Amino acid sequence: MKIILASTNQGKIKELKALLPEYKIVTVKDILGDIDVEEDGDSFQANAIKKAKTIYDLLKEKEPDCMVIADDSGLSVPLLNNEPNIYSARYAGIGSTDKENNGKLISKLKEMGVSKTPAFYTACIALAYKGNIYTTHGWLYGEVIDKEIGEGGFGYDPMFIPKGFSETLGTLDPALKKQISHRTKGLLLAMKIAKVIL
Ligand code: IMP
Repeated sequence: MKIILASTNQGKIKELKALLPEYKIVTVKDILGDIDVEEDGDSFQANAIKKAKTIYDLLKEKEPDCMVIADDSGLSVPLLNNEPNIYSARYAGIGSTDKENNGKLISKLKEMGVSKTPAFYTACIALAYKGNIYTTHGWLYGEVIDKEIGEGGFGYDPMFIPKGFSETLGTLDPALKKQISHRTKGLLLAMKIAKVIL
């Protein structure tokens, strides 16, 4: 059974592949080339479902037994009314880089006069198989700081210190992120569903 990842984010693809070593994994780009699914939902779940369903519908004739897995995820900062939330990838504008998004978050924290504040990551995993869609969620709690430390991970990781640790995900071992991340938690639940429906 082939698993198709409906993501173009290299950071996510690397993490998802590492989490599913026993499966044959391909990305949507490997099969369909560059496909852009507009993320116009009002929740992580709505966007994850849209990504999984759009790619599944495009592939179901050619690959009727495939399973499509989509992830929609982001960071929420309660002090900032949960920004950037579903807009995490485009916080500084459409097409913005991780560096630009982090820069905007740093400015917002400085405007609020804080150097550290609680934050959490959310991942919604949507799994499309044989015409049905299933979703799961995972969360990772911690704090964000008003600077970037380290080069590891992707996105907001250099600003995010997971609860119980004193370093950012930019410097912590990637093996640790693999154990505790929102994406891991969501994906483990999704794979429990996969084991029942396959
Ligand atoms: P999506 O591709 O629309 O789901 O957007 C995901 C965005 O959320 C990424 O571009 C990052 O900005 C952020 N994000 C999600 N998960 C992580 C993570 O594990 N580390 C850092 N940033 C993340």
